[in-house]
Amino acid sequence: MKSTQLALLGGEKAVTTDPGDLFAWPIITKEDEDAALDVLRKGAMSGTDVTEKFETDFRHWLGVDYALGFNNGTNALLAAMFGCGVGVGDEIICPSITFWASCTSAYTLGATVVFADIDPDTLCLDPKDLERCISERTKAIVVVHYFGYPADMDAIMAIAAKYNVKVIEDVSHAHGGIYKGRKLGTIGHVGGMSLMSGKALAVGEAGMLVSNDREIYERAVAMGHYERYTGDIQTADLQPYAGLPLGGYKFRMHQISAAVGRVQLRHYEARQEQIGLAMNYFWDLLEGVPGLRAHRPEQDSGSRMGGWYAARGHYRPEELGGLSVTRFAEAVRAEGVTMCSPGCNIPLHNHPLFQDADVYHHGRPTRIANSSRDVRLLDADLPVTNAVSARLYVIPWFKHFRKDEIEQYAKAFRKVAENYEELLAGDQGNPPVLGGWSMFQKKAL
Ligand SMILES: *Cc1c(COP(=O)(O)O)cnc(C)c1O
Repeated sequence: MKSTQLALLGGEKAVTTDPGDLFAWPIITKEDEDAALDVLRKGAMSGTDVTEKFETDFRHWLGVDYALGFNNGTNALLAAMFGCGVGVGDEIICPSITFWASCTSAYTLGATVVFADIDPDTLCLDPKDLERCISERTKAIVVVHYFGYPADMDAIMAIAAKYNVKVIEDVSHAHGGIYKGRKLGTIGHVGGMSLMSGKALAVGEAGMLVSNDREIYERAVAMGHYERYTGDIQTADLQPYAGLPLGGYKFRMHQISAAVGRVQLRHYEARQEQIGLAMNYFWDLLEGVPGLRAHRPEQDSGSRMGGWYAARGHYRPEELGGLSVTRFAEAVRAEGVTMCSPGCNIPLHNHPLFQDADVYHHGRPTRIANSSRDVRLLDADLPVTNAVSARLYVIPWFKHFRKDEIEQYAKAFRKVAENYEELLAGDQGNPPVLGGWSMFQKKAL
């Protein structure tokens, strides 16, 4: 049997080695266990002393003035929006290709979301589509460094400055990523990120807000950290309410998370370096293969991927006789690359939550409950967003730089791409709804 015979059609698999810990994440050692036990034994689960140390570590790591720990990334981003002054009737701009938590909390503030298109290469917010989305009610732009790729921050910050709009970086996919020499999360007015255990900086239920802007930070404190909302607050209109839970929320981080987070952060750069070596090696091996393109910044750009969370590859069906990404991924999985699924997340604007749901009994859809314009009409103009799932597939997320094994995985992708003609006959195309993070009944679409 030829080793080029596709496994899907009866040939040998390209991946023959048991991966062992090649993909295991997070890496938990006795150091993490001891840190967690220490919190338990001291009964310090609900305190803030360990969290404040974690915040200090974070400030030093990113080189920012303020860091504030949260119980999850969703609330760190909600507090970032509140910090930027988003309120009733306001609009935020966000890509539709992201996780819910980048923008859905706008509803909580009485605000709404305008979805901007993404750039087909970076998969992040397309700065060229921002001005279409801006109105007098725009208060903030949420930038997502999607799948670890640093968004085009220079162009985004320039437009934000022109319209006096704040920029929130959602760094949940890209911890430690770099844009032209600057750490992600430190370029916009405020950064918010998830540290949940599926992410690159994997702690557990936890989130972090970072900023160099004292007022944004203080508003975030006031919203959900009443124990830290004290007379030291400098922002004048927050002073009268010190000690009160201004937002009605409690956002404190569990200190087992904070303690484990300190250990994870201590090792993060070294572990991230291994991931980067492995992932870049994988892509180097696939350079020039028809139909496949890396999703990573150019080597001499001064930018680098952050953590490679949920990394994808670009797919160019036009170079492979129109072979669907669904059929392509099926064949790659058959080669032993079990995680290779097609697509990315279903665009958020397609979900009923952003179309007709009346969450708070306004008597009209929450998306337009407090709006002076029907922002849903702008959803019609998202061509890249709507087509992108057919042009992406999941790649392995290597945690260790083990060349022999990585070569087997790269061989699987190469083999399928080079033998695409054999797959055309059985190709049934992509399903009508392609993509994951399906907190949604796909059949209802
Ligand atoms: C995971 C994630 C969040 C939310 O974080 P949680 O910690 O799960 O609340 C926000 N934005 C993006 C892009 C995410 O992937």
